[in-house]
Amino acid sequence: MGAAAMRGAEPPRVLILFSNDRLLPANQRLDEGIRRALDPEGNQSAVSFFAEFLDATRIIGPEREAMMEQYLKDRFRDLPPQVVIALGPQALGFLVARHDRLFKGTPIVFGGTSQGSLAPFRDVPGITGLPMDLTVIPSIEALLAMRPQTREIVIVHGASPPDRAWGEGALQQAAPFASRVKITAGPVLPLPELKAHLAALPRDAAVVYLSYFQGPTGETYTPARVARELAGAASVPVVAPYDTYIGTGVLGGSVSPFEEEGFGVGLLVRRLLAGEKAENIGFLPPNTPRVIVDERAMQRWNIKSVPPGTEIRYHVPTLWEAHRTAVIGTSLVLALQSLLIAGLVVARARRRRAEKELRFSEARFAGVFRGSPAAISIVRQSDGRILDVNPGWEKATGVSRTAAIGRTPLETGMVIDGDADVRFRQFLDSGKLLHDYEQVIRTPDGRTRWLTLSTELITLHDEPCYVLVAKDVTEQREAEEARRQLAQTSRLALLGEITASIAHEINQPLGASLSNTDAAAILMRQASPPLDEVRQILADIRRDNLRASDAIHRVRALIGRREVRHVPVDLNTVLRDTLKLVAHDARRRGVTLHHELAGDLPVIHADAAQLEQVLLNLLLNAMDAMKDTPVAARLVTVRSSRKDDESVEAVVEDRGHGIPPDKLGRIFDSFYTTKEGGMGLGLALARSMAETHGGDLYATNNPSGGATFHLILPVNPPVSDDHAKA
Ligand code: ADP
Repeated sequence: MGAAAMRGAEPPRVLILFSNDRLLPANQRLDEGIRRALDPEGNQSAVSFFAEFLDATRIIGPEREAMMEQYLKDRFRDLPPQVVIALGPQALGFLVARHDRLFKGTPIVFGGTSQGSLAPFRDVPGITGLPMDLTVIPSIEALLAMRPQTREIVIVHGASPPDRAWGEGALQQAAPFASRVKITAGPVLPLPELKAHLAALPRDAAVVYLSYFQGPTGETYTPARVARELAGAASVPVVAPYDTYIGTGVLGGSVSPFEEEGFGVGLLVRRLLAGEKAENIGFLPPNTPRVIVDERAMQRWNIKSVPPGTEIRYHVPTLWEAHRTAVIGTSLVLALQSLLIAGLVVARARRRRAEKELRFSEARFAGVFRGSPAAISIVRQSDGRILDVNPGWEKATGVSRTAAIGRTPLETGMVIDGDADVRFRQFLDSGKLLHDYEQVIRTPDGRTRWLTLSTELITLHDEPCYVLVAKDVTEQREAEEARRQLAQTSRLALLGEITASIAHEINQPLGASLSNTDAAAILMRQASPPLDEVRQILADIRRDNLRASDAIHRVRALIGRREVRHVPVDLNTVLRDTLKLVAHDARRRGVTLHHELAGDLPVIHADAAQLEQVLLNLLLNAMDAMKDTPVAARLVTVRSSRKDDESVEAVVEDRGHGIPPDKLGRIFDSFYTTKEGGMGLGLALARSMAETHGGDLYATNNPSGGATFHLILPVNPPVSDDHAKA
């Protein structure tokens, strides 16, 4: 497409020349009206607009006008407009005065200019336009209709030449009313003083505000902004001839809306662009002004009636209108409320006291909850969902608060026991409390943690909830686990009874010392270490240490075919010590350990370390046998009793699967095992140790299920047996 064709396709150019700042509210509305008529799509596809403004209230004089003329000439030399719109009398005067030099032959369309200002242009060729009916007469008539008590009308305006010209014109227009009311030319004052003046007007006065572009000391204003200031300050209603002032607080007036004026001007431009001649159109009759009032101002001045045909804006909805449907309900509610209030007043005092206490305890709880190093979670009893967790919990489990809330502990994926879901459900349903319940969890990064759980049942938001306090005992458990695995490894690795026994004897006290050292280290880390406990642990370590060296001594003795030393031993002490060794293991497996120890046991002569080894084997076997027993039924009972004058008995009774009757003898054979990975040496070893002591070890099945192992020990073992053994 060639350049000529392009130009041919370009939309016609229209220049809009404003008298004043084109962002004045009146100018914006004129502009909107023009564009609505000429460019309804809003994309300048039908008309290309250009806009300039003279700023006539501030920049005046021949020199400035010459500069403006030159500027417009230069600017539009290559892009001459097809139509020029002059908005306001100054722009029209400017263009008409130099029409033979500037935009010669281009039709001029005026707008935003009152009929009174158009007299000089009546016979000028090439102009057309839509005059505005801007007299104050209908505004004053409307005012007097709405406020018949008005005795004085004060006409207010600014100090710029257009303001003053407007003021003079308005005074003349108002003259006929002089017989009914006093017409006063308001003093031309700086805005603050003018406001003060209007605030002090007598109650039977009213204000006609025209325009205030400039104050007497040169400050410039936006007339609509001044309208807001004056209407706010005045002690009486303010009427005005411009729709741009309505909504600022003025009562209203007879106005010709600027947008409609602009639209009329736009339609004229269309006619010219369609080929009509300006001369043939001439001046159109002005739009008919109408009275527009602000209902909020009507309320303020207690005006009840308006002239016929008045347009009411800013409608104030009545209570009924605003809440049509709600009103009926509300009045019912109000009636009910007044009944309730009496009761509430009484209840309120009580509630406030309770709330204060609650707030205090809540704050205290929140503080403990947040700050506690313990891992705390709050779990709803009804569905087991986590309602909240504290930072300690996040740290211990590695699961974030956001990931936890709304899930059950199982859904967080950290509980890995096969039957955890069943047990958790049982726990929730039972409403029972836990105390140091041991739970192994796996963190998202794959670490295993040991937690001991204790619970408290509380009511939160009317729902029963568990507060679960978990203590991370991983370090202790890891130490124990290491020891247990040592014991296990030893059990598996040893083929000879004696070698096995000796290895146990050494490993066991070494493992115990190790875990005790760890325990002591943990205790010492506390702010105020429990020194008594630490002292006890040190004593245990010393004892284990002696035991280990004792075992080594015995190995030497055995190798040198020396006697195993039997020393006075309290069987109950050995049983208690052994139970302590398996206590954590039992908790982790959900096994309850129970003991019934006889009070009248004689001191026996035995090798305590070997007895411990035998009992340890029996206890571990008992727990193994209850793998498939329901958790609640997992019980191991350890008893001691005096069998006769010569011997004592220790029994280990479980609720496991029991032993097939035909296997009651075979289980003591070396390498007999029914366990995956079992070695079948434990019982063989244990029985030979029992025999070493001149005692016996045998098994029976319980009538109600499970097995019982009986360890019979003579009070005084025959010394010769050791020699026989060796
Ligand atoms: P292991 O434990 O390596 O199998 P043991 O000699 O300790 O070796 O046990 C041998 C077998 O005796 C076990 O595999 C098991 O079948 C049986 N047994 C041991 N203790 C019990 C018990 N308390 N209840 C039922 N069976 C048992």
